[in-house]
Amino acid sequence: MRKPLTTKNNSRIEVEIPNECPRCHSGVLPTKLFAFKYVDGEHMEMAHVVFRCPMCEKLFSTEYLINEYGDSLMTIGNYPITHKVEDFSEEIEQLPPKFCQIYNEASFAENENLNEIAGMGYRKSLEFLIKDFAIRNNPSKKEDITKSWLDQCINNYIDDNRIKNLAKKASWLGNDESHFLRRYGDLDTVKTIKMFIKAIINFIESYLAVEEAEKIQKNNNCNLRISCKFELAK
Ligand SMILES: [Zn+2]
Repeated sequence: MRKPLTTKNNSRIEVEIPNECPRCHSGVLPTKLFAFKYVDGEHMEMAHVVFRCPMCEKLFSTEYLINEYGDSLMTIGNYPITHKVEDFSEEIEQLPPKFCQIYNEASFAENENLNEIAGMGYRKSLEFLIKDFAIRNNPSKKEDITKSWLDQCINNYIDDNRIKNLAKKASWLGNDESHFLRRYGDLDTVKTIKMFIKAIINFIESYLAVEEAEKIQKNNNCNLRISCKFELAK
């Protein structure tokens, strides 16, 4: 949403109001506190606007490049720069937490446009996710799983064909991000690996939910009570 503002040094500017708080990452319509127009060291007309987020109530600022009429040409950035941490379910976080940490570091790199590093990071997070899940289901094989190549681990210790297929393909794409020769150059590999990892997480969560459901045995006490009542009524 564009809005006209009056700056502290009495200029009229019109800028795009940010729709996400860079501190808490809530989608918000922030309150403008004050704006300032200035010329930077490279003689560019700039404006800085300080906002308050209605959700976290903290201040943040947005920097704009503007033209001589005060219209913003582009948003340079929102400050402070913070990175959104991906929230994983309790079930995924209860697997050893290294996966969540590596995934978030890869996501941090991606947000900074460090795509070469991000791809390798997602590939590493995939390895931890798959191996920790495999160890959880095969604790006596921990040493073998730890030492094996990711593809071997997927083949030998992942039974669910959907997880197996996604993990294999994500691993191939991840290797593309780590090696000199790219085999899947046409694909947006970072985006695709992320999509596959998210799907694997969904299947692991479903697997764990089914496992919990299987532990629950039918409780017949309720039926017994009903039949006792029936006896008494007779
Ligand atoms: Zn906020």
